[in-house]
Amino acid sequence: MKPRILIVEDEPGLRMGLVDGLRSEGFHVEECADGLSGLARAEQGGLDALVLDLMLPGLDGYEVLRRLRAARRALPVLVLSARGEDEDRIQGFEYGADDYVVKPAPLREIVLRLRAILRRTVAVEGAEPAAQVRFGEVEVDFPSYSLTRAGKRHGLNRLEAELLRFFLAHPGEPLDRNRLLDEVWGQERPASATRTVDTHVF
Ligand code: CA
Repeated sequence: MKPRILIVEDEPGLRMGLVDGLRSEGFHVEECADGLSGLARAEQGGLDALVLDLMLPGLDGYEVLRRLRAARRALPVLVLSARGEDEDRIQGFEYGADDYVVKPAPLREIVLRLRAILRRTVAVEGAEPAAQVRFGEVEVDFPSYSLTRAGKRHGLNRLEAELLRFFLAHPGEPLDRNRLLDEVWGQERPASATRTVDTHVF
């Protein structure tokens, strides 16, 4: 199932770029050009996440977010704004944004942040992937962070378990260090140490 994303952005060029870019990354994408129609679409449900610009004609992004949260909509929201000031960022989070990207942002960053908030939501909602996974002679038990290989049990730390889960969810895909850092470490990403990945993988 492709994640269903709604983009609310009034700048036509930027909106089209986002729509095309996210589609090519495997998302199902819908679009709105103003806050009121964006809010109406979001309230219909059936979306997995919202990419929301702040400066919008009519209803601005803050107000869209405030009304969504007031209606107890748990829809994950990635705020997209030309403003990078700390105050705007904090206000976005206060209104219930899940993450914040300052425009212009590379598509790759938007995709990674979207995937991260989607993954967090899945975890929170308890739609957990299988607790045990078997491949070859290895059986992994995620709740106890352990794996058994040829009858011998090995303990894993949480990051090792998360990495393993991530690898198993992406069979055959080349995964570079930055993607692993973004998707597995996420918020706990170390400041400037892609070598951290090597330490945990090898
Ligand atoms: Ca705008």
